[in-house]
Amino acid sequence: MITVKNLVKNFGKNRVLKNIDLTIESGKVTAIVGPNGSGKTTLIKTILGLVRPSDGTIEVDGKIVKDDYLYRNKIGYMPQIAKYPENLTGREIILLIKSIRESTEYNDEEILSSLKLVPEMEKPFNNLSGGTKQKISALIAFAFSPKIIILDEPTAGLDPISSSYFKDLVIKQKEQKKTIILTSHLMNEVQELSDEIVFLLEGEIKFKGSVQSLLEYKKETKLERAIAELMSQNN
Ligand code: ADP
Repeated sequence: MITVKNLVKNFGKNRVLKNIDLTIESGKVTAIVGPNGSGKTTLIKTILGLVRPSDGTIEVDGKIVKDDYLYRNKIGYMPQIAKYPENLTGREIILLIKSIRESTEYNDEEILSSLKLVPEMEKPFNNLSGGTKQKISALIAFAFSPKIIILDEPTAGLDPISSSYFKDLVIKQKEQKKTIILTSHLMNEVQELSDEIVFLLEGEIKFKGSVQSLLEYKKETKLERAIAELMSQNN
């Protein structure tokens, strides 16, 4: 479980996150949605320890994580754009990350086969298609058995078949009681995968609750419409 308390982030005079209070539970997929510039990436990066909060705290499993970088061993992160040393093969990248991470747990069989990655692992990263780079990024996010998985626009470069296999993997991770955070602009994907929705606007949480409760609140059946109404209501 992740608890964010009174989180503030200023970039100079620009207050990007305004007193965010948020609990992200395990065994659920929590989607962070909102328009461009609303603070989603900054929120994720503070949880990852890549951005330092101006105020407030982040707790992982009840422990404040400030300056304690070891908590990051619990996290699997799939960034929006995968960047790894271009001349290394997927196999070599995995070896490199294994040597850096302190986790001894590593299990890639199911991910390699379901994402059809086996032959791709022997090619230099530079020679891979965008979608295959995304799949290797997914492999790195899932295979070290992290308790927390953060997925930033994960299916953006995937073809429909790969995207569907990827979603099956996310659901399996959820069944293993992982804490999963997802950002996506694809509302049908958010509706399919997520249990909780956090709607951010200009650095403030304007809605937090289950997908079902948002649909009922807005009397809609499609999340896309419910979110659009939230946006227009707050403009
Ligand atoms: P989102 O992910 O929702 O599109 P971001 O978290 O990337 O939003 O950005 C929120 C705001 O913070 C934007 O106004 C952006 O320009 C600003 N911002 C993000 N990162 C930095 C940075 N490193 N330095 C200055 N401003 C930043």
